[in-house]
Amino acid sequence: MNRPLVVGNWKMNGTQSSCALLAGKIARGLRLHPAPVDVAIAPPSTALVAVRRALGKSPIALAAQNCHWQANGAFTGEISSVMLRDIGCDFVIIGHSERRQLFLESDSMIEKKLKAVIDNGLRAILCVGETLRERESGRATDVITRQLRSALKGLGKNVIDKIAIAYEPVWAIGTGHHANPSQISRVHRRIEQFLASLLGKSKGTECRILYGGSVNPDNAPDLAALKEVSGLLVGGASLQADTFLSIIRCFNKK
Ligand code: PEP
Repeated sequence: MNRPLVVGNWKMNGTQSSCALLAGKIARGLRLHPAPVDVAIAPPSTALVAVRRALGKSPIALAAQNCHWQANGAFTGEISSVMLRDIGCDFVIIGHSERRQLFLESDSMIEKKLKAVIDNGLRAILCVGETLRERESGRATDVITRQLRSALKGLGKNVIDKIAIAYEPVWAIGTGHHANPSQISRVHRRIEQFLASLLGKSKGTECRILYGGSVNPDNAPDLAALKEVSGLLVGGASLQADTFLSIIRCFNKK
């Protein structure tokens, strides 16, 4: 069984100093009460260096929220995976639904980004998930399978342990309505089956499958207890050290 992974996505929130302060509080909390969990935090790009410094020797990993697929060049406003590795990032979140919806990232852009991240020695958190309309029309698992097939097609089997997949139903992100345990288990099982068919059973299970969407300290214990859930991607509730730490600790008994 893979060690669970809990990721805090801070989105476009915080200055260098507020992010460094929050990272320091989370790192201290984990040092005082260690949890059998891998933890990563994804501050906005402007705070990555400050957070790296604030984390010091903490085992908490540093994640970026996005990157471009090219290493460098005339791409005004973009940051590459080479640059992220240079400043000490460990992970990059790829294909978050806010990037897909608000910034029109296509499956093919996500495929290229994922490949760049892996080729440059970083690890990825690949987000997939359906909209409410797709769920209501019975297409949730087809959409997720399409997103996965497209994102993974340029990669060899041996890199799957560098990727965590986050199932994030679009209708659950930032809405206060998380998916219910049976919806989550069903989709996670479908993702497991897809990975097993693509990579073979033993390779397929090397990939952690996280749930994300309105996770908070009240619902996290039930979500963490699901056997199909090997971690959580947390947005709003990761912006306070105490709420994020209490979500992390839900995996203590897993
Ligand atoms: C997210 O943005 O990945 C997310 C899960 O957000 P929230 O927890 O706020 O729904």
